[in-house]
Amino acid sequence: MKILCVLYDDPINGMPKNYPLGDLPKIDKYPDGMTLPSPNGRDFKPGELLGCVSGELGLRKFLESNGHQLVVTSDKDGDDCTADKELVDADVVISQPFFPYYLTRKKMESAPNLKMAITAGIGSDHVDLQAAMDHKIDVVEVTYCNSRSVAEHIVMMIVSMVRDYHSQYAIVNNGGWNIADAVQRSYDVEGMHIGTVAAGRIGLDALRKMKPFDVHLHYFDRHRLPEKVEKELNLTFHDSVESMVKVCDVVTINCPLHPETEHLFDETMINKMKKGAYIVNTARGKICDKDAIAAALKSGQLSGYAGDVWFPQPAPNDHPWRSMPHHGMTPHTSGTSLSAQTRYADGVREILECFFEKKEIRNQYLIVKDGELAGMGAHSYSKGTATDGSEEAAKYQKK
Ligand code: NAD
Repeated sequence: MKILCVLYDDPINGMPKNYPLGDLPKIDKYPDGMTLPSPNGRDFKPGELLGCVSGELGLRKFLESNGHQLVVTSDKDGDDCTADKELVDADVVISQPFFPYYLTRKKMESAPNLKMAITAGIGSDHVDLQAAMDHKIDVVEVTYCNSRSVAEHIVMMIVSMVRDYHSQYAIVNNGGWNIADAVQRSYDVEGMHIGTVAAGRIGLDALRKMKPFDVHLHYFDRHRLPEKVEKELNLTFHDSVESMVKVCDVVTINCPLHPETEHLFDETMINKMKKGAYIVNTARGKICDKDAIAAALKSGQLSGYAGDVWFPQPAPNDHPWRSMPHHGMTPHTSGTSLSAQTRYADGVREILECFFEKKEIRNQYLIVKDGELAGMGAHSYSKGTATDGSEEAAKYQKK
């Protein structure tokens, strides 16, 4: 079979010769008891860069020794890109949300052999899920592999944004010492009302991780958490996003992108938020209206916006979030720490082993199966597509 794997570029100065840490902490299980990915083998050292072209997700030896063909590229956008050319006779396509290969209906229809799209990570909105259902192409992801990595990033972003770390760091780098400048936007998080839109694996972990800061915790989700968890974390449940954002100083967005959540945070929703609130969005860029966010930061309706997700990706060089005031954006990195890469590379291999041996893929990994939303797809997504507009990614010029 032919496996097409779309990965981000190698480091500009080449693959690292060594890494800061000699090994990774050992983790046996996720908090709900789910086991970590468990492939039959592994051809990389945990902690190595795997998500870039030369890292190949550690798959080449395994695939080639089993008689399969592996094609790896980062050339994924624009007419005549390598990925589109290689897709036409591919059986499986693998892509990461950090550098998504937007698998639109048109692309899917150019690939008659395509049977499965694997997301090396979590969040399969870069695949036109409706088209996948219509064409009976299965879509799977490595559920839980980086949920807790993202929750850590959320905590980092809430604390650093509320305390205004970025400005203080910039003052030091510029040789300055003006403390009044450094603190004129700096607050404590303690006592604030923090709310998450969605309390799935990431949202719930972010709530748990914020609890020791002595804050008031809120959530909205289409699935209510068990009473025991609400009590343990002293959570306030809201039956709508509007009800929650009205009372929160910080709102973190942790739902998948699907037709119900696309542009959920538009001008109307942002105006319902408490004046001067902060947003941390590590879910998907398109859940927010990019111009409405930039305008709210300029007007002061929002005090800060941080996250690592954009639309499309890579973000065009003139994307307003690169230059808007009071932002704490990173490129899409929260779920691709070296720690997370090991887990999702293992997960992709586990999925491929099951696929080749015609064994069942874990139900938790399924998004679309046999033409229907299935597994986590049925739990967390709605029908339809969210890939429209993704061709804008071709506008990005490498720096
Ligand atoms: P999850 O499936 O465990 O949780 C998703 C939650 O969203 C579920 O509880 C679901 O009920 C809820 N939800 C779905 N639609 C909703 C709606 N309309 N309103 C309210 N709640 C809704 O997934 P997870 O592991 O927590 O990941 C969530 C999302 O975060 C992913 O789909 C992905 O988009 C994003 N993510 C980002 C990164 C990153 O690197 N930045 C990494 C992993 C995941």
